[in-house]
Amino acid sequence: MAEDLSIGLDIGGTKMAFVLADRGGNVHAARTLPTNSHQGIDDTLARITREVNLFIEAHRGIRGLGIGLPGPVDAARGIALKAANLGWEHVAIRDALCWRLAKPLPIYVENDVSVGAIGEQLFGSAQGLGNYVYLAIGTGLGGAVMLNNQLLRGATHAEMEIGHISLDPVAGRPCACGGRGCLEMSISGKGLLASAREFRAEYPESRLHAAPITTRAVLRQAEAGDPLALHALDEAAAALGIACAWCANLFNPELILLGGGLAHACYHLIESKARRVMAAHSLKMNFDAARLALAQLKDAALGAAALVWYQQNTEASL
Ligand SMILES: [Zn+2]
Repeated sequence: MAEDLSIGLDIGGTKMAFVLADRGGNVHAARTLPTNSHQGIDDTLARITREVNLFIEAHRGIRGLGIGLPGPVDAARGIALKAANLGWEHVAIRDALCWRLAKPLPIYVENDVSVGAIGEQLFGSAQGLGNYVYLAIGTGLGGAVMLNNQLLRGATHAEMEIGHISLDPVAGRPCACGGRGCLEMSISGKGLLASAREFRAEYPESRLHAAPITTRAVLRQAEAGDPLALHALDEAAAALGIACAWCANLFNPELILLGGGLAHACYHLIESKARRVMAAHSLKMNFDAARLALAQLKDAALGAAALVWYQQNTEASL
């Protein structure tokens, strides 16, 4: 009998990554294509269909297709509600793909941050755990919560918008959401840039003045001890510590995982301060229960492949 395999697809603003993986998370095949969302949804769906059908034709034992997408997703109905960087609004991607595949396959669609959280449970740092928080630190700040092995879900699929919880709604830095002082304006790529720009006049000696400030430059200069870059990282670490304290007090997780590109790039620079701030702002029992760790899975498509097993395991346990 053929080995059980699942196809994972991560659809991002610039690229679509496909993997074919087994239940152990071993990747049997992988492929990446440009998303080219400007060519329209039909073109994107046609290219996804072509790739998935190639996997279906070449491999036996494929049990499902898992898809991770940016923005809120109605997972029960397989609908991408709003993926701004793809230009998608209310796209019924599961139904659209369903009839195009060479063979009927269960299709699961989920928000990419939730996919990151699920991937950690099957193949990453949260293996064997049923209560944990996953924070995705990238250009922005997102999150997902697993409680008693169930993903926390809200009424309109927009739960855990932790990036837009405010530290200072009156005098804080303005955020694109219309609010002020949102966590995302301190702990994210956007936040590092905004902080470095806001305080640049106070650090005339900073090497960040030499060129346009980028997230990469802030990180590089922080490694070199630049005071303006360190100021931005310090602010980010404090904001992250508060976010972790809130998560510890609200959800009582056994683990808070930090995922996303920026988390991996700056964990060593912010971890110890974030932990101190978290300790100062959470209840001792909640702090003691919650380990802080870096997410392991860097392959978002593998997380999407894990989504198939997560959903099928969940259905089997009902
Ligand atoms: Zn905001």
